[in-house]
Amino acid sequence: MQGKLIVISGPSGVGKSTVTKKLAERIGAVISISATTREPSPKEKHGRDYYFLTREEFEKLIADGKLLEYAEYMGNYYGTLADTVKEHLSAGRDVILEIEVQGAKEVEKKFPDAIIIYLLPPDDNELIARLTGRARDDEATIRRRFENAKAEVAQAKAAGIYKYWVVNDNLDNAVDKIVRIVHKEKTGDNEK
Ligand code: 5GP
Repeated sequence: MQGKLIVISGPSGVGKSTVTKKLAERIGAVISISATTREPSPKEKHGRDYYFLTREEFEKLIADGKLLEYAEYMGNYYGTLADTVKEHLSAGRDVILEIEVQGAKEVEKKFPDAIIIYLLPPDDNELIARLTGRARDDEATIRRRFENAKAEVAQAKAAGIYKYWVVNDNLDNAVDKIVRIVHKEKTGDNEK
């Protein structure tokens, strides 16, 4: 049986990566490693967190039709490598894509059966606390990221593609909810 494609989107600071990792462990899914032209942070590793590419390399992937979807976000390209994802799906493995809204729209068009989920921050104060907790940005940057996160949620609502909205109030709760959503979709018990 084909694996399921699971899309997780959410604004910066909502804890997407942590939720995605936990979810992958719980349901035995593969997390797709994206290509990007943004600079790696000191903690990130090529081939583990992203494939860090030059714009030329990325544009060649676009030209060669190697990307399942891609988008430009905050001045950088981000995209999903089609072959790897398709191989996993064909082998019956579920694949999680942690991607932003424009990319999720593309996925929805190509894979109408994908499970498309948006992760929401519990409230504004908590979002600011999480953005501040990263401790790498000054106040103006945090404010900008906060405004940006709010705008992203609005954009996601307008996109009309997210079937499930999960509030990340607590890691285990959020993961539990998503596990139930995936189970429901996979057993066909998914009234729209
Ligand atoms: P970051 O730079 O914080 O790692 O990611 C920025 C945004 O790009 C996040 O919303 C993340 O989900 C999204 N993103 C990461 N990989 C991809 C991808 O392959 N395609 C798309 N469309 N967005 C991605």
